[in-house]
Amino acid sequence: MNNHPFTEGLAQGQLRYQYCEDCGAPQTLSRLACSACGSERLAWRDASGRGTVVAASVVSRAPSDAFRPLVPYTLVLVELAEGPRVVGHALPGTGIGDQVRAGTFAHERRSLLRFAPAA
Ligand SMILES: [Zn+2]
Repeated sequence: MNNHPFTEGLAQGQLRYQYCEDCGAPQTLSRLACSACGSERLAWRDASGRGTVVAASVVSRAPSDAFRPLVPYTLVLVELAEGPRVVGHALPGTGIGDQVRAGTFAHERRSLLRFAPAA
């Protein structure tokens, strides 16, 4: 998990997304093949970190012990300026349509994605 480009990027404060080297389509989730053309030539790019919230929810039951100290917390689905969608934490009160930018916070010695309002 620590060698995953997405996780590695976050550790450096950089949000990354996967894209197809053949057709250029961005991948919403890390996959083994391009969802648009089936190519397996996938690579990673650094995202600008800017995007728009398309869904938001407040989590009040932690999915695991590691997240228990954080509840309640806000999770958002963000459509990045580059096209892919990613799920991350967000400041309380973040809602659909908000312009946000990506940042990170440290939890249990890991860097987690957290969106804040775009300046
Ligand atoms: Zn493709």
